[in-house]
Amino acid sequence: MTRYVSTRGSDTVSLREAVLQGMSPQGGLYVPTQIPTVDWPPSDGSVAEWIAPSLFPSLEPDVARRIAKDACDFPFPLVQLDDSSFILELFHGPTHAFKDVGARFMANLVSLFATGSGGEITVLVATSGDTGGAVANAFSGRSGTRVVAVFPLMGVSETQRRQMTTLGGNVEAVAVEGTFDDCQRMVKACFSDSSLSARHGLTSANSINVARLLPQTVYYLEAARRFREPVHFVVPSGNLGNLCAGLIASEGGMPHAGFTAAFNRNHGVADLLQGGSFETRDSIRTLSNAMDVGDPSNLERIQWLYKSYDALRVDVGGDWVSDEETLRAIANVHRRHRYVMDPHTAVAYAVAQRKHVGGAPVVILSTAHPAKFPEVVEDAICEPVSMPDTILSARHRNELMSVIPPDLGRLKELLDGGPR
Ligand SMILES: *Cc1c(COP(=O)(O)O)cnc(C)c1O
Repeated sequence: MTRYVSTRGSDTVSLREAVLQGMSPQGGLYVPTQIPTVDWPPSDGSVAEWIAPSLFPSLEPDVARRIAKDACDFPFPLVQLDDSSFILELFHGPTHAFKDVGARFMANLVSLFATGSGGEITVLVATSGDTGGAVANAFSGRSGTRVVAVFPLMGVSETQRRQMTTLGGNVEAVAVEGTFDDCQRMVKACFSDSSLSARHGLTSANSINVARLLPQTVYYLEAARRFREPVHFVVPSGNLGNLCAGLIASEGGMPHAGFTAAFNRNHGVADLLQGGSFETRDSIRTLSNAMDVGDPSNLERIQWLYKSYDALRVDVGGDWVSDEETLRAIANVHRRHRYVMDPHTAVAYAVAQRKHVGGAPVVILSTAHPAKFPEVVEDAICEPVSMPDTILSARHRNELMSVIPPDLGRLKELLDGGPR
């Protein structure tokens, strides 16, 4: 039976432990002891429900399918731009970011485990943007779970803040009068307080969690199924979770014509993929800020998967573009195709334009709705971007949040105060 092992160790744990611990106590990231196999081609019908029992073999197949159905209850449309380029829209979930897929799977699993154990599980998450909203929304209203989303008061956009502050119920929003680094530091300190951690069943929901990683294979499989020939995937990358999921699908048996990882000015991994070596760097702020990562954690999983960088370079190319090129890509695609891309998708598009990826169809993964980044997008296309109803309606809902100084004691008090 599949268990989960750290990229740095040999002891294995159950799915429940891997999900609730998030990161291995030995250091390192959890990976399945057996890569989920993909019996290509998929049957007709829901790809998510078809693959879920292989993704999580320790669950009852019916439970896995039920979770997949609930988590992937939105479409992944494929938009054709020209003869050989396609955009795969991953942003039709409730918070309009591809992170909804992984977050909704994880919320289902945590809720299942909470019901099994009888104790409440508290998801404590520090966020600088999209993660908090996706996680809060995914857990909202799920029995046995409580979410505490900690974010810098002045460091998130209004849309992002409202995605955390307007849900209420089991979702609490904590705005810190400080930076994201303050939030991260306070949250880490809570996790290392073992009595606090045990009292509340604290768990993190960050992107290294296997419960978020593995389900992201679903949309690769769905896209690949729609073509007669293998396709080349271009992935806008930050922490490399998205890319890693594609590589897991590939390892499991999904046919493909290669991958290209696209980066902004935080391009250490692009250098590595082009034959250089990798160095950890401080992150640089860019217009595609969800990809501003100087030290991507999933690189460790990718190394584990491939054993050598030379082997990795056979499957995966990499390149990067500047903010200016990102804006130009948004403007060009809007002018030529009347299609509006968000800045993260635009990075991938610009990289795809530059690279020659052979004759295969090119599928560019679109990770966010352009309305999530109106300032940047409107700057590029010189007209207003249309807002989805869900974003508009959240503007009229009441916000509820606690505002605290960057003080660990205050965060602990809020946790101990229990749900409102
Ligand atoms: C998180 C995110 C990314 C980067 O994905 P990784 O899995 O961290 O590489 C890209 N685009 C958007 C919009 C995101 O929110």
